[in-house]
Amino acid sequence: MEENILSIKNLTKSFGETAALNNISFNINYGDFFGLIGPNGAGKSTLLKILYGIVVPDSGTINIKGLSFQSADYTKIKKIKYDLGVVPQDDNLDEDLTVYENLLIYSMYFGLPKKESSKRSDELLNFFNLNDKKFSKVADLSGGLRRRVMIARALINNPSLIILDEPTSGLDPEYRQNIWNKLKALNENGVTVLMSTHYMEEAEKLFKNMIILHRGNIVLRGKISDITLNKKSLEEIFLDIAKN
Ligand code: ADP
Ligand code: MG
Repeated sequence: MEENILSIKNLTKSFGETAALNNISFNINYGDFFGLIGPNGAGKSTLLKILYGIVVPDSGTINIKGLSFQSADYTKIKKIKYDLGVVPQDDNLDEDLTVYENLLIYSMYFGLPKKESSKRSDELLNFFNLNDKKFSKVADLSGGLRRRVMIARALINNPSLIILDEPTSGLDPEYRQNIWNKLKALNENGVTVLMSTHYMEEAEKLFKNMIILHRGNIVLRGKISDITLNKKSLEEIFLDIAKN
């Protein structure tokens, strides 16, 4: 088996004059909990959107589990997507449907048989402590609960890689802690996690390996111990970077 679940080489993307990503390369190992850190506008969402196929890069290559994403071969792209879980930055749940219906719709996209999707939904609702919300309308849920539904939904297809774009931003500490615990447990069960954040605390608590992005460039990379070696705290390093 290959060592890397994801491999990115020389990825570049501009929006007009704005260089959102400037020649980015990095690899993620199977089983990693990989962090993408950076302030607003660093390029985090652009990078993640390229990975889940909604932004097309100007150049560069992406390889997920040995399959190249740039391929025009639809069967290949579908194969990659079937093994990915995606939690976008913006909440895109179906407001007027129940939590359960939101999960079922995704399971249909993945072609899960009815019995299996119902079983999987129940497992996920249980894992995310959402049992009593199964038949609640999404519109009636708090922000923290909605975020949990987003993550549960992304796991309906049992992906081996889950990509989350700032899944805890704007949440109360209690909700953030809850999501951290769930993501940690998933990772311990073998799911590779790629997650972006602008919270340093999150990076220190969760990430095994990380890159720090600033204005589309990787300014630091490695394990937290490498990054903070002989230096200040991650928080201070981050402040320094943001000043430049
Ligand atoms: P982050 O997620 O780290 O906050 P983004 O990837 O959203 O950063 O944005 C990186 C840069 O690209 C920003 O300067 C942003 O304004 C710009 N950008 C992102 N998406 C678009 C777009 N669709 N059109 C124009 N500019 C964009
Ligand atoms: Mg973003």
